[in-house]
Amino acid sequence: MPIETPQIEKKQDSQRKLFSLSIEEIKQQVDGYSVISTFVRFNSKGMSNCPFHNDKTASFIYYPNSGKYHCFGCGVHGDIFDFVERKLDLTAGEALEWVWEYNDFDFSLHDVKPIPFERVSYKGPVHIDVIKGWHKDLKNRSWLYQRRLFDDTIDDNMIGWSTRQQAHVFPYWTGKPGHSEVEIVQYRINRTGIYIGMEGHYRKALLNRHLLDTNSWAIIFVGTMDALLAAQDGLPALGLNGIHMFKPEWVELFKDKDRVVVVPDKDNEQEYNAAVKISKLIGSHAYVKQLPESIEGKDYSDMRMNGWSPLVAQLYFKAEGLF
Ligand SMILES: [Zn+2]
Repeated sequence: MPIETPQIEKKQDSQRKLFSLSIEEIKQQVDGYSVISTFVRFNSKGMSNCPFHNDKTASFIYYPNSGKYHCFGCGVHGDIFDFVERKLDLTAGEALEWVWEYNDFDFSLHDVKPIPFERVSYKGPVHIDVIKGWHKDLKNRSWLYQRRLFDDTIDDNMIGWSTRQQAHVFPYWTGKPGHSEVEIVQYRINRTGIYIGMEGHYRKALLNRHLLDTNSWAIIFVGTMDALLAAQDGLPALGLNGIHMFKPEWVELFKDKDRVVVVPDKDNEQEYNAAVKISKLIGSHAYVKQLPESIEGKDYSDMRMNGWSPLVAQLYFKAEGLF
């Protein structure tokens, strides 16, 4: 299983997302009604007592379509951010962050938990029609865009959306995406991207295996997002579904390569040691290369989110000896 600590990283991730969005994008993504409902109780007509004056007649209303509230008694009005700012006596920036964090929390509480991940006992390859169906159901790409994935990457790999699991689905193809079997699919919760599970041939999953056909060298990342993004950046990036998922029989795949670079997550001693073992297993043309300390982030994907440019990232791995 991948080593992830969602609880600790959640706040950081959520803030990172916040800073990568415009105000309008945030407004579109937050559920204003749910935020306001934590402070006021709406009656069957959608009205409530105003929280800003001593109101006995339910003169307060919220319009979900426009995202605005209004009080017919004291005349107070504004959007969801004004509301939180006023109600909790925050600055505009604090209110923005509060609403965003609240929504992230609210989403995981109400939308994900009632639809728990259903572990499917089926362990064979996932049928391509199922993958196509999930891909078709992927209506909202905002989280994938935030993770810097382009439409080409999303469509070529047929990243999808599972309504049942309320999660993004990442297929691991055995060969060229769209023209081979899928070994496993990996589920990640919407918005947070937290890994929640997988199904299929657990033990065979090596992402972007087809890149070995056209490249004289290879990089092995630990993580789906890292491999997808690095491949998009032009690197022959393969992805392990967790460092301990490397299979000795895969050594064969790398034997005619000029060099093989194994990249563990940063500041993870256990993973570093496992990466050294993998490189030794592959042979003398393989070695471990750690991500640079100069950019914040625990892995390739995080670092790209934090401003590591695709060009510099390419150079870092391509131009041996420069760094
Ligand atoms: Zn009022």
